[in-house]
Amino acid sequence: MTTIFEATTAFAQKMDASDPLKDYRSKFHMPVQKNGKEHIYLCGNSLGLQPKTVRAYLEEELKDWERYGVEGHFHAKHPWMPYHEFLTDAMAKVVGAKPIEVVVMNTLSVNLHLMMVSFYRPTNTRFKIVMESDAFPSDRYAIESQIKFHGFDPADALVELKPRTGEELIRHEDIEKVIQEQGNEIALILLGGVNYYTGQVFDFKEIARLGHSKGCLVGFDLAHGAGNLNLQLHDSNIDFAVWCTYKYLNSGPGSLGGCFVHERHANDKSLPRFAGWWGHNKETRFNMRFDFDPIAGAEGWQLSNPPILAMAAMRASLDIFDEVGMEKLNQKTILLTGYLEFLLDNIPNESIRIITPRDKKQRGCQLSIQVKNADKTLFDQITKDGVIADWREPDVIRVAPIPLYNSFMDVYRFVEVLKKNLS
Ligand SMILES: *Cc1c(COP(=O)(O)O)cnc(C)c1O
Repeated sequence: MTTIFEATTAFAQKMDASDPLKDYRSKFHMPVQKNGKEHIYLCGNSLGLQPKTVRAYLEEELKDWERYGVEGHFHAKHPWMPYHEFLTDAMAKVVGAKPIEVVVMNTLSVNLHLMMVSFYRPTNTRFKIVMESDAFPSDRYAIESQIKFHGFDPADALVELKPRTGEELIRHEDIEKVIQEQGNEIALILLGGVNYYTGQVFDFKEIARLGHSKGCLVGFDLAHGAGNLNLQLHDSNIDFAVWCTYKYLNSGPGSLGGCFVHERHANDKSLPRFAGWWGHNKETRFNMRFDFDPIAGAEGWQLSNPPILAMAAMRASLDIFDEVGMEKLNQKTILLTGYLEFLLDNIPNESIRIITPRDKKQRGCQLSIQVKNADKTLFDQITKDGVIADWREPDVIRVAPIPLYNSFMDVYRFVEVLKKNLS
């Protein structure tokens, strides 16, 4: 069934009225402007909004800490000792993985390093890492520092995938060509599952297939993928993935990261890793005398006992994801982001252009709008008019309508504000 969009308030309201997820907006705190009106919040790709249930989940842990002290590790309503396990099933569903493949721990860049410790094992003949040329800076720093840590030079070891001249997106055939030509020298292919700048989504399964056929390992940074795309990480067959939970997963500023290690590595105790007590066999963890014996699966990469308060906020959020499911979220994304695309295309102004792929399989919620010859003044204007979006130098506004809490009217109002300030 295809929906025929119309650029009218009445149509946007009709879409909201028939939206099966419409009640979820009221389960989140929508930031409010000085004038008392709600913001048009299209920045959930940077920081997801707070579920109203977070406070109660936090209070439960504060209460149990007050009541039990250290005994809360065993006697809290949700005992702290195995607390991270309460997140595993819901998180595994969010990313389409088996529970043994998923753990919540540390933060994204830390997990990226831990994964490279295990899965970037360069030799003199196979030492290269493939990444996007415009990857998120933290990923570049992490990758370059790993290369140097192993005594190689990023000038030789870093292979950057670049869009062709005059294009913004990376063509799949160009990824394929790099793997075909340099595959025997490539140790690791490490891409952003959704490019943070363009919103482009790569074909995980095909890249994994191509990489593996040449003996490369394949990992993804899903900072912009988890909670956004209907991921099938297990089936995609990639080796590992990392993500954060404060963007699409609404778990609060600076919250913990998630990590996926494919099941085929679950019992490989010979994989080199940086170890800590929380990754050690639960039966003997407190004996403290045994040699390190990693827990099977992603849990075996944990280092420390985790921050319960941050995880409590995450539980509140993941309970919502568990209730809705990624499939329904994805169905709404296709309509909601599709509507945004339709309205933007309808603006009779040559200076704006969507650089995100038009193909719905190659994008999630986010659209990146390039404004030709712009400086930041247009963005500052729309901010003044109540929009919260994101500006990326030199000329791109990123907006992401979030299916859990954004409405078709949000999208409509945003485009009205943009139009007003363009003319
Ligand atoms: C948001 C983001 C990060 C942030 O990393 P932290 O370790 O959570 O600060 C890293 N990489 C990408 C691709 C991101 O989008």
